[in-house]
Amino acid sequence: MADLSVVCIYCASSAMVDRVYFDATELLSGELVRGGVSVVYGGGAIGLMGKLADSVLGNGGRITGVIPKFMDDVEWSHQRLTELIFTETMHQRKAKLIENVDAIIALPGGTGTLEELFEVITLKRLGLFTKPIAILNTNDYYAPLKEMLNKCVSENFMKAKHLSMWSFVDRPEEVLPALKNAQKWSKDAINFAVVQ
Ligand code: AMP
Repeated sequence: MADLSVVCIYCASSAMVDRVYFDATELLSGELVRGGVSVVYGGGAIGLMGKLADSVLGNGGRITGVIPKFMDDVEWSHQRLTELIFTETMHQRKAKLIENVDAIIALPGGTGTLEELFEVITLKRLGLFTKPIAILNTNDYYAPLKEMLNKCVSENFMKAKHLSMWSFVDRPEEVLPALKNAQKWSKDAINFAVVQ
């Protein structure tokens, strides 16, 4: 079973999403803090990012933000984080976000969240990132993504064993168990990365 001390969370910056997504973010934050898990995220102050930070801090937990300097310059960063790390570029931020974490959690989000999630899945397929990934499918938001990923396999763009790189879960309380019970992954994934 995977050891979980620090998780990286990708999530929406939008403040306009339905309340169901804010509630799920709050519930997950409580689960993480109670489980002794600290969080690394994109450092934003609004949307699900802001809710995540406020909830983790409100529950007495630890949360580190990693944000590019240009976003801090326009005052997008949360001001009360346990720690705030600045990068020059978006690429550096993505690398830093996953540097020392034990797992990844993707909450619902827009293109930024999807990009971050797809990069880490791609790294995992190549064996360059080997930690568990959980995707919180609140309100069935990610149903089309699940379908797309299954299509990647059914149309032979990916192998069936690549489906075990991530787990979709419907409820916040299922996230930590999914990460703890994730199928083991290793650098050897490079040996079956290509479909041929
Ligand atoms: P999205 O899922 O499209 O809302 O994107 C979330 C990601 O977008 C974050 O991880 C950041 O890369 C970036 N981002 C967009 N807006 C903000 C913001 N107001 N504060 C911090 N990060 C933001």
